[in-house]
Amino acid sequence: MEISNPQTIANIPLCEPNLAGNESKYITEAIASNWLSGGRFVNSFEEQLCEFTKVKYAVGVSSGTTALHISLIIAGVEENDLVLVPNLTFVATANAVKYLKADPVLIDVDRNSWVLDINLIREFLETQSFVEGDSCFHKYTKRRIKAILPVHLLGNMCDMGELLTLAEQYHLVVIEDAACSLGSFQNGKHSGTFGLMGTLSFNSNKIITTGGGGAILTNNEDVAKRARFLITQAKSPGIEYLHTDVGYNYRLVNPLAAIGAAQMEQLNHFILSKKKSKEFYCESLNLTSEQIQNVTINTDSNFWHFVMLHERSRELIKYLSQQNIETRPVWLPINELPVFKNDIYIHTHNCSKQISDLGIMLPCSTSITEMDLNRVCSFITKFNQI
Ligand SMILES: *Cc1c(COP(=O)(O)O)cnc(C)c1O
Repeated sequence: MEISNPQTIANIPLCEPNLAGNESKYITEAIASNWLSGGRFVNSFEEQLCEFTKVKYAVGVSSGTTALHISLIIAGVEENDLVLVPNLTFVATANAVKYLKADPVLIDVDRNSWVLDINLIREFLETQSFVEGDSCFHKYTKRRIKAILPVHLLGNMCDMGELLTLAEQYHLVVIEDAACSLGSFQNGKHSGTFGLMGTLSFNSNKIITTGGGGAILTNNEDVAKRARFLITQAKSPGIEYLHTDVGYNYRLVNPLAAIGAAQMEQLNHFILSKKKSKEFYCESLNLTSEQIQNVTINTDSNFWHFVMLHERSRELIKYLSQQNIETRPVWLPINELPVFKNDIYIHTHNCSKQISDLGIMLPCSTSITEMDLNRVCSFITKFNQI
């Protein structure tokens, strides 16, 4: 039965893809070329990523998660190693560490910036680790600490200068999870290009999308070559099927890269739209700095996803959903997930929990209209008066 109700108000989605550019045109070209696995769009999309981020090499892969997996392998993470990971992130960051039978050391985030708390890392390394030769070890378990994986959560970054200094001092490889920070810069340098590697995601909710996809960014030629090798089943050059390592089938395919190429043409416009939504929410709702993520000094965030903290966040989510407005909580802290409950968690105030408990992700598709933003804000204001 179909109910037609003129009163029905259109749904405001949380964050939907914006395919208003050359996506269909390029995908048709990819199909017409009969190149579906590799192909010219993979190359041109990778070039666009290099040009935008000013990185030397970009390697297209099947997802942000596979980008992390390959990066951790290249970093030399092995079974029983430890990797420093923020406690507030999407689970993929911590999962990738587990793929290698290594474990994360979960580090709490900073209450203002919501990204890795540098002071906490410094204190942990000073008091709970020691360096022997070229390696760093955890004092109590004697396990090697191999790498650090900062996540540029929601587009913001921690102080990368300080992080790189610590990493060098303690011989840690830096891999940046830049899944949500394409378009974020610090001191004019693009996120994901500070460490040995940076990883991007093009999942459908990210600032640009290919449906599913990702990339590894690096300025190191050997790393780029090694990444290409590992994502194509570790196949040696030539027509023989000689595979010298355990390889993976993690490539980005041509029709998806075609979507990516069209998305890159619109990236600057997408970033502007995210900034506008953020400013709209902050002004209309009179939000204080306590209630939002504060961007780190010298950082330009892409404001990928707007989140505000609210004392009655779960009630508000329900209330807005009754008004056809889609919102979501922030991720649960990693230390609260069953798989990670036995991993080390370093914190003093458990800020990840506060942010997770109070956080609400508000609609911020790049196609959202001012009318929709107004509707969201007026219902939140109404709710606040209940
Ligand atoms: C989306 C995301 C990922 C995973 O990327 P996929 O492409 O979905 O595999 C990893 N880390 C963070 C922080 C993300 O937001």
